[in-house]
Parts: sequence; C-alpha cells; structure tokens
Amino acid sequence: MSGIGYALRPGTSIAYKTCQGQIFKKIRPPSNISLPDARFYEKRVKFAGNFIFFMATFLFEDIVFGPVKSRRLGVSLGINLLPGDRKWCSFNCIYCECGWTGKGPYDSDGFPSRPVVAAALKQRLIAMTAKKERPDTITFAGNGEPTLHPSFPGIISDTVALRDLIVPEARIAVLSNGTMLDDPSVFNALKLVDQNILKIDSAREETVRLLNQPGKGFSYSRLVENIMRLGGKFVLQTLFVRGTYNGKLVDNASEGEINDWLELVDRLGPQLVMVYTIARDTPVTGLGKVPAEELYSIAARVEKLGIKVQVST
Ligand code: SF4
Repeated sequence: MSGIGYALRPGTSIAYKTCQGQIFKKIRPPSNISLPDARFYEKRVKFAGNFIFFMATFLFEDIVFGPVKSRRLGVSLGINLLPGDRKWCSFNCIYCECGWTGKGPYDSDGFPSRPVVAAALKQRLIAMTAKKERPDTITFAGNGEPTLHPSFPGIISDTVALRDLIVPEARIAVLSNGTMLDDPSVFNALKLVDQNILKIDSAREETVRLLNQPGKGFSYSRLVENIMRLGGKFVLQTLFVRGTYNGKLVDNASEGEINDWLELVDRLGPQLVMVYTIARDTPVTGLGKVPAEELYSIAARVEKLGIKVQVST
C-alpha cells in the first residue's frame, strides 16, 4: 500500500506515467536525500507533469528503502514486497500516488523471495546500527498491498526475529487495505506486528467502491467483520478527499459521511485513528484536498469517542 503522507521519500524512484499507464521516464534521487533536494526532485516532476501532461507516480525499486522521518512512525525504514516496476494491489484507489493498478494477471512474477527480503533487511539494519541510526519503525509499505506477497507470513516471522536480534526497540508496522484478512495465515501474521495500519475510507460501501475501486470478490461487510476480529489491536487510517470522478461527486468528508464513519470508528475501537488527505498527484483529475481545519474538526470528534487520533495535512 502506498505511503501515508510522507513529505518526501528518499531512495524512491519517481516515474512519469502516461494516461495509458506506460512509464515514460524515471528519476532516482539519492538514497540519503535532504529535504531541499527532495523538493528539487518533486519540482522537476511537477514541471515535467505540467509541461507534457504526465502524472508523477512514486514507485519503489528497492526492497528496503529510506529511512524517512515520519511524524507518525518516527525514523521509518520501509520495506517494499511488491515488484519494483509496477503497482500491485487488490484496490485501485482513485487517489493512489502509485498510479493505477495494472490489469494483471497476478502471478508471482517480480516478488522478491523471502530469503532475499530477509538478507536485504538484515544488511540494512546492521549498517544502520553501525552508524547509530536505528529505526523507530520497520514499515511494510511500497508499490501496493504488501499482504499479497505469497510469503508474507514467513517474511513477518523473519522480520520479528531480525528486529528482536538487532533493533529490539523498533516497532514493526504494516500498511494494508485489509483485503487479505480472510486468509488465516495473513491474519495471524498481522497479529504479530506492533502496528496494523488498516485503511477504511468510509462507512458507506458505495463510497468505498467509488474511492477504492476494489477488485472482484471484495465484500465490504467481510472486511469490517475481519477487522472486528482483531479486537481493537489495529490503527485505522482514513484518507479524506473531495471532488468529482466520472461525473460523480466524491466527498467522504461530508456531514453525513462523517456521522456514519464516527459510528464505525466507535464500533471498531482502534488503538489510534490516522486522518489525512491527498498529498501528491492522483491518477484522476478533479480531486482535491480536504482543508486542514476540517481534518482537525473530524479529529476532535474522534477524540470525544475516547480514541487517540493523528492528523496529517
Ligand atoms: S490501497 Fe489504494 S492507495 Fe494503497 S496501494 Fe492500493 S490502490 Fe494505492
């Protein structure tokens, strides 16, 4: 699943994608990029985007990327389990900064193997420790939905073992859309991590279908049931967005939407709610940010439920 509002992503390839989804050109910023340099790269993408009408999308080429500084995750070392040259997800969110999900077929081509992931992580953790740059969080994110990796449960076991051995104070976080929670091995693996950050953008199924464009076989009620089975041991993340798509109004921050969403939040009882809005280009035009003051007002209503909340504007 794509990142959640990092201001920049060191070590990330920035690709221009055409409307047909073809990657036109990639820029690879250096891995230890500073904030001004990262802005320079973002400007280059924006300039090219304005000039030749391409959208900037963010794809991770490396298995281990960063670290990046995140308000929510601290010094976060990222892990991308998806292929490095395309997005791979069971959703196709209309705001996804990785661009559109490809058509498939989804075979195992391009996934890094379990031993390769473990070796890459071990090497990076040892290097970071030697430089006294220990991560606060090891975060599974990247070019789509990490739980789609066929060896996801084994990779989580390896990551827990490496964390315990090398950086025992670090947390492990997974950014997921929850669609694989039906699989008992994925469900049990997610119970081993410190922060399951699960996306629900609306309490209304029709809004989820519009915003997240789930694949065939998706059941909204099953997703909610599966999250309930976590017994509150998860973090809920909701992206608020406003605009139009395919001639339809998009607004999951309207008063009616928020009322229904707050009821759902109360029922699910997460450890924390992360409220944010779009930060970069989206695959469709016509979408805009929800203003910061509205996000803070939504957050205040979450706090009244006795649930902690973080806002990223
Ligand atoms: S869940 Fe949505 S935002 Fe996240 S990677 Fe998939 S399509 Fe992109």
